[in-house]
Amino acid sequence: MQKKLFSELGLSPELLKAVAKVGFEEASPIQSAAIPVIMSGSDTVGQSQTGSGKTAAFAIPAIERVDGDLRATQVLILCPTRELAVQVAEEVAKLAMFKRGVRELPIYGGASYERQFRGLHAGAQIVIGTPGRIMDHLDRGTLKLDQIRMVILDEADRMLDMGFVDDIKKILSMAPPERQTIFFSATVPAPIAQLIKSFTKSPVTVKIQSETLTVPLIEQSYYEVDRRAKVEVLCRLIDLYDISYGIIFCATKMMVDELVDHLVARGYSADKLHGDITQNMRERVMGKFRKRGFEFLVATDVAARGLDVDDIEVVFNYDLPHDGEDYVHRIGRTGRAGRTGRAITFVAGREIYKLQNIQRFTQSRIRREKVPSLEEVEEKRANLFFDSLKETLEKGDFKRHDVIIDRLLEAGHSPTDIASALIHLLGDDKAARPAQVIPEELPQRESRYAGSSEPRNYPKYEPRSGDRDAAPSRPRAARADGDAPRPASTERRFADPSPKSHEAGMARLAFNIGRDQNIQPGDIVGVIAGVAKLPKESIGAIHLQPQQTLVDVAEDQAKAVIKKLNGIKFKGNKLAVSFAV
Ligand code: ADP
Ligand code: MG
Repeated sequence: MQKKLFSELGLSPELLKAVAKVGFEEASPIQSAAIPVIMSGSDTVGQSQTGSGKTAAFAIPAIERVDGDLRATQVLILCPTRELAVQVAEEVAKLAMFKRGVRELPIYGGASYERQFRGLHAGAQIVIGTPGRIMDHLDRGTLKLDQIRMVILDEADRMLDMGFVDDIKKILSMAPPERQTIFFSATVPAPIAQLIKSFTKSPVTVKIQSETLTVPLIEQSYYEVDRRAKVEVLCRLIDLYDISYGIIFCATKMMVDELVDHLVARGYSADKLHGDITQNMRERVMGKFRKRGFEFLVATDVAARGLDVDDIEVVFNYDLPHDGEDYVHRIGRTGRAGRTGRAITFVAGREIYKLQNIQRFTQSRIRREKVPSLEEVEEKRANLFFDSLKETLEKGDFKRHDVIIDRLLEAGHSPTDIASALIHLLGDDKAARPAQVIPEELPQRESRYAGSSEPRNYPKYEPRSGDRDAAPSRPRAARADGDAPRPASTERRFADPSPKSHEAGMARLAFNIGRDQNIQPGDIVGVIAGVAKLPKESIGAIHLQPQQTLVDVAEDQAKAVIKKLNGIKFKGNKLAVSFAV
C-alpha cells in the first residue's frame, strides 16, 4: 500500500486544515489504507506496527463522523492504559481543532470523577478511556451509549493482555447494534479474532506488512554479550553512538533497579519504570522523560506499556524480550513516523535461538555487530570533542578570557601548552587513562557463530567520568533543569585504583573515611562484617586512600551494605557509603 496525500482521502476542509497544522505532510500507509475504508462505514480491522500512525488513522474518520450539533457521546475509543487514553485524546483534540462543537473527553481511573461527569454532561462526543473506567461510568449511568455511532478499540491485543476482555465484551454488547466497530492492533491473536467475529459485521481488514512500515527505518542490530559485561558494553555503545535519549528494557524489576544504579554511578542520568513504582511516581517519571528531563529510561515491558514518546534515539533490549510481539512493541518506540531510529539487542549465550525466532516473526534482519573496542569508543569521542571545539572556535561563540590567558602568556607558557593544559583539565587527556582489562572473569562461551568462540576480554572502559562535561557536542538536555550533577573530576581523583571492581561478582563501594582518619583495612572489614553482617569471603580488595576507602564487596550484598552502614557513626565519623564512582 502506497502512501497518499491527505487531500486524496476525501477529508473535510476542517480536517485537512488540522492535519496540515499538526504537520503531517502525507498519510502513512495505514492511514492511506484505513481512512477511506472507515469513512465508507465498514467495520474495519486495522493492523500495523507501533509507530505507524494508527491513532490518526481512526481519529480522523471518527471526527468526521461526529455531529457537532448533537451533544451526546457518539464515538467511544477504548485504550489499554490511561497514558494512551490521554495521548489519543490529545491527538483527537488537535485533529478536531477546526471542527466546530466537537469535544473529546478522556476518561480513566485515578482522574477526578467530577471533571468526567461534567465533561460527559456537557455532551463530549468523543469519549476515550480504559475499559475499566468506561464500564464504571456505564454502571453509574453517567455515560450513555444510545447515540454511539462508532466504537474503536485501540491496541486491542494489549487490552486483551491486560485482562479487559470481559469489559470489552460488555461494552460492545451495550452499544447500539447499528454502530460501526473498528479494531486496531499490532497483532491479531486468536482471542482477538474471536472478538472481531462476534462483534463486527463483514469487517474489512487493512493490514500493512511490516516491511513497508517503520521497521526498515529502524536500524536493528544485536551484540553477543556475556551477562556480566552488559553494563560495560551498554555504556560503550551509548558513548560510541553519542546517544542522549533512549529506553532500555530489562527483564525484571531487579535488573531495572540495578541498571539504573550502574548508569547513575557512571554519570548518566537515568530513571526507571517497573511494577513497584506507584502510579503517581510513574507519571512523574514519564512526564519528565517526555520533556527529556533525563537521558535513559530503564523499564520492564509491562511498566512501559502505553508509554508513547517521540524522538527516542535508541531502544536497547538489555535483556531479550519474551517474543517477537514484545520485540516489535519495544522497538516501535524509536524511528517513529519516518525518522530513523536504532534498536540494539543484547544476546547472552544460548538466547541466540530466541533471537532467531524474533527475526522470523518480524521478518526483518537484525544485524550482528561486534562489540566496539575501547579504542574505537575513545577515538569516536576524541573526534566529537575535536569537532565541537572546532565549531566553537569557528563560530566565535564563546566568552573571552583574555586576562587570564595574557597572564599565562606573560608567565612564559606557550599557547599550545595552555590549550593542552585546559583540555587536560577538562579530562579529555586520553593518555592519562590507562587501558585496563577486566581479567579472567568473562567466561568463555561456546557459540556456533564464527569468530565468537575466542575468550572475550573487554578492556575496562570508564566512560563519562571526567571528560563528560567537556564534550559540548552533546547537548545535555538533562542538565538544563539543574538535574543530577555528574561526578565531576572523579577520573583524576581515583585514576587508580578505579571505581570498578576487578573481580567478578564484586561491586566497589566508596567509604568516606581513609588514611587521614587513621583507618586501617581491619577497621573496614570489622564494620562490614560486624555491622552489615557480611561473611569475610564477601569482602574483597580494600584500597585505603587519604580521604576515602574503596572496598569490594559481593555484588548482591552491596546495596545491603550501603543501607546498613550509610549514616552510622564509626570511629568518630559519620559514615557515607555509596557505589564508587
Ligand atoms: P501507532 O498508534 O501506530 O503506534 P501513533 O499514532 O502513535 O502510532 O503515531 C506515531 C507518531 O507518528 C506520532 O508522533 C504521530 O504524531 C506521528 N504521525 C502519525 N501520522 C503521521 C503522518 N502522517 N505524518 C507524520 N507523522 C505522523
Ligand atoms: Mg497507537
